[in-house]
Amino acid sequence: MNLFNRKPVVCNICKRETSHKHKPKIEWQIHGPLCGDCYVNQMKTFYELSLRQKCVICGTDKDVPEMWEPRYQWEIKGLICKPCFDKKDKEFHKLKTFCSICGKTLGIIRYNPKRKWIVRGQLCRECWDSQKARFG
Ligand SMILES: [Zn+2]
Ligand SMILES: [Zn+2]
Ligand SMILES: [Zn+2]
Repeated sequence: MNLFNRKPVVCNICKRETSHKHKPKIEWQIHGPLCGDCYVNQMKTFYELSLRQKCVICGTDKDVPEMWEPRYQWEIKGLICKPCFDKKDKEFHKLKTFCSICGKTLGIIRYNPKRKWIVRGQLCRECWDSQKARFG
C-alpha cells in the first residue's frame, strides 16, 4: 500500500489540499471533506450558534436558555426573548378574548360578570346586560 500515491483531498471551505480530511457534520450542510482548521472553525461556529440565537421578533441576540418558545397559537417560528413573549402574550389576550356566554370576540372593552352569576371569564356588553336583567 503506497500512502503517498493517494489523490490529495481539497478542503471544501479553504480549497487547500489536505492530507487529513474531516467529514463535515450533516447539520453544517457542507458537502465534501474539510481540512483540520476548517473543521475546528465550523465546530466552534456551530457551537456558538447553538448557544445564542436572535429573537425572531426584535432581533436581539440572546443566550438560548434565556429565550422562550412562542405559544403555538401565535404561529411564530423560532425563539423569542422574554420581553417580546410578554408583549405578545398580552396582545394576544387582548385580541383573542371571547365572551363566555355568546362566544363573540371581545375588543378592548369587556365586562366582568358579577360573582353571583357564576360565570367564568369576561362578557360582551349585551350578555352582561341580559345577565344583569335576569339575575340582578
Ligand atoms: Zn480548510
Ligand atoms: Zn425580542
Ligand atoms: Zn356575549
